[in-house]
Amino acid sequence: MIEAFQVKSTAKTEFIDITHSVQEVVRKAGVQEGICYIFIPHTTAAVTINENADPSVSQDILMQLNKVIPFQDRYRHLEGNSPAHIKASLIGPSEVVLIESGRLALGTWQGIFFCEFDGPRNRKVYVKVMKT
Ligand code: ZN
Repeated sequence: MIEAFQVKSTAKTEFIDITHSVQEVVRKAGVQEGICYIFIPHTTAAVTINENADPSVSQDILMQLNKVIPFQDRYRHLEGNSPAHIKASLIGPSEVVLIESGRLALGTWQGIFFCEFDGPRNRKVYVKVMKT
């Protein structure tokens, strides 16, 4: 069974720390050793793992993504949100984290971030926990 939870973004582009929500899914699954698969079912959002100790890191990543992929250009997609589609493809829709002793085996400074590129919106995160 796939578990899901909601994320509510409040800005056009934004990284939201979802580590605790994912860990909660793992806890409820009761899996001690396994694999946690995180999937974003959207075309203008993504998921990444990076530093969550200093929020400046995700702000810097966003700043550069928004610079490399500008909001205005000669995009052809009529919906007008091509930059969001491009950023979503670059970052990617999924991550895998190992589970050890019932906990996500993340590094000390790592967190899981939902990446909003076309907000604000209500979004979904899918999580599959597998016992190994
Ligand atoms: Zn679009």
